[in-house]
Formats: sequence, structure tokens, C-alpha cells
Amino acid sequence: MELLRCENVTKKYGSGTLMVTALDHVNLSVQKSEFVTIVGPSGSGKSTLLHLLGGVDRPTEGKIFIEDIDIATLNEEQLAVFRRRKVGLIYQFYNLIPTLNVRKNILLPILLDSRKPDEQRFAEIVDTLGLSDRLNHFPWQLSGGQQQRVAIGRALIYRPAILLADEPTGNLDRKNSEETLELLKLSNKYFQQTVLLITHDEKLALEADRIITIEDGIIISDEAVRK
Ligand code: ADP
Ligand code: ADP
Repeated sequence: MELLRCENVTKKYGSGTLMVTALDHVNLSVQKSEFVTIVGPSGSGKSTLLHLLGGVDRPTEGKIFIEDIDIATLNEEQLAVFRRRKVGLIYQFYNLIPTLNVRKNILLPILLDSRKPDEQRFAEIVDTLGLSDRLNHFPWQLSGGQQQRVAIGRALIYRPAILLADEPTGNLDRKNSEETLELLKLSNKYFQQTVLLITHDEKLALEADRIITIEDGIIISDEAVRK
């Protein structure tokens, strides 16, 4: 089943002589449960692509469909709901809320919707992430690896259509990087979570089903990983 489709997606920043074409007519289709990595040099448009897919920014041209919804048709309010429920975003610097404990950081998208948490789902997530004994801790009381696990929990709590991860291991040592990758793979394998991961670590990229390479805003290769 096709989960995501980009049709001729172009993103330009600025105007006139300062205009930058960050993405240039990108076409892309991702199936449900795929684990895809995106690689390419710095400045090639990887983060821009993730931001567009996550509804954080809008394309200059072209269309993006997620679960057959054309996200350009969503107004600001609908887009905010889409961001909370349909996509899970993970960044290099965890972006946790410092004044909230682990439980509330993970439940944030649900609390923002003024909904009652699904405690079974919450327990499943914190068990899988090994955070059960840290629920009352605040972000500053956690290691980098633990903070990233909280961010993964927050991204997954709503069972998003797609998990979008932008260099999530960029700030972690080898051991924590491997652990974080294992958790992304676990969510892919056991929850059939579709994952799109940006990395410049080639070894890490090879763990995916498929590697997309972007250069100067263009997809220059898109290949299945032979296992
Ligand atoms: P990558 O993630 O591959 O490093 P980016 O998507 O961050 O690449 O950037 C692609 C291009 O778009 C770069 O030339 C970058 O300078 C430019 N760019 C990214 N964000 C902005 C912005 N907010 N304003 C202007 N230019 C930007
Ligand atoms: P805004 O329109 O100001 O981005 P949102 O309601 O989308 O408001 O989000 C409010 C805050 O909640 C944001 O600062 C963001 O960091 C966080 N947030 C939004 N969506 C998610 C999500 N899916 N997972 C985790 N945190 C989220």
C-alpha cells in the first residue's frame, strides 16, 4: 500500500538573485512499513524534504500525499492536527520540553489535543523504550540516549503514519547511536511503522530497506538494500 507520494515537489527559499532551489521536482513513493534512509551531502535538501513531508513547511510547487490526503488542502489548524497525529518527528537535538517530566513529554501530542491517554499504548511504548523507571524524571536528569528515547516515544505515541527522523544519532556516541537505530528498526518490525531516516552515516543507512540519495535537490539514486 502506498503511504506517501511526492509529485514534482519543488522548494525554493528567498527570491531574486538570493533564491535557492532546495528541492527540484522531486518524485517519490513510499509504501507502508518501508524503512527508508535518505543520504546526501550537507545542503542537498534532505531536511527540507522532511520538513515538507512533516507539514512543517509547504512546497513552492508540486503535491504531497500522505495516506491519500493532499496536505496542501489542509488549513493551518488542520495542519497542526496532522503534525501531531499523522507524523512523528525526531531531531538531532531531542526538542523535549524542559519543564515537563518524561511521562508528559511522551504524552505531549495527546495532551495538546486535550485527550485522555491510552494507558496501554503508553505502557507498551515506555516498556519497549526501557523508560519505565524514568517517568518522573525531567529531561536534564537523563542521558542523551535516554532523551532521544523519550523523543522517539513522543513521536510514536499516536501511531503516526510515518516516522520522520532527521540525523537522530548525530549527537550520540556509537553505543547510543546503535541503540537508537535498533529502536527505530524495532518499531518498524513490530509495529509495521513506516520510517524515513536522514543520516550521513553510511553504515547506518545500509540497515534500511532502501536508500535514497539526494544531491542539489535532486534524487540521484533510489535503491533497495541487498541483505
Ligand atoms: P540538508 O538537510 O541536506 O543539509 P537543507 O534541506 O537543510 O539540506 O538545505 C538545502 C538548501 O536550502 C541549502 O542550500 C540551504 O542553505 C537552503 N535552506 C534551507 N533552509 C533554508 C531557509 N530556511 N532559508 C533559506 N535557505 C534555506
Ligand atoms: P504549532 O502550530 O505552534 O506548531 P502544535 O499544536 O502543532 O502547535 O504543536 C505545539 C508543540 O507541540 C510544538 O512546539 C511541537 O514541538 C509539539 N508537537 C507537535 N506535534 C508533535 C508531535 N507529533 N510529537 C511531538 N511533539 C509535537
